Amino acid sequence: MKIFCIGRNYKDHAEELGDAIPEEPIIFLKPPTAYLPNNSDIPYPSFTKKFHYETEIVLKMDKKGKNLSEEEAKDFYSQLTVGLDLTARDVQYDLIDKKLPWELGKAFDSSALVGDFIPKPIDPYAMNFKLLRSGQQVQEGHTKNLIFSFERLISFISIYFTIEKDDLIFTGTPVGVGPLEKGDTVEAYIEDQKLLSSKVV
Ligand code: MG
Repeated sequence: MKIFCIGRNYKDHAEELGDAIPEEPIIFLKPPTAYLPNNSDIPYPSFTKKFHYETEIVLKMDKKGKNLSEEEAKDFYSQLTVGLDLTARDVQYDLIDKKLPWELGKAFDSSALVGDFIPKPIDPYAMNFKLLRSGQQVQEGHTKNLIFSFERLISFISIYFTIEKDDLIFTGTPVGVGPLEKGDTVEAYIEDQKLLSSKVV
């Protein structure tokens, strides 16, 4: 299983971090050891003091393919959910400052929390999603505000990487990223469906 992640795919989040709007998707990967299924405890990493959530729609790939058109990419996923791209923000920014790869701040063990999958809705660009931290809503997004569509992401990734069955794509976070502390609960929804529930330990 490969876990692809997209950076800056919502205009408001790019502005929040003071970043330019990208002309092409920004791609990074997390290894299979980053995968954390729903209801697992989230271990607070020892090496960070700024452990951040990024709430994102996650697509699951159905089959293998390469060099896909956007039209072909439509048939490559039938399930999606909401997940957290967990980030050691201080580590990530320190690496970016040094012009180094940011894996240590992004791709560590248990950094990809994935909710329960649901069938892809008829219109995947009409979905509201949100995160509650210890009962308080802290982040909300809507897929109509994506910079790059899901099909564009799949097509773009497949130029460089063979897409395989069960690969996951974290499709980027909207505005409102923020910190987690030990003892926090996290619950994430697509529309009114709770698909993710975990605790930071
Ligand atoms: Mg992210």
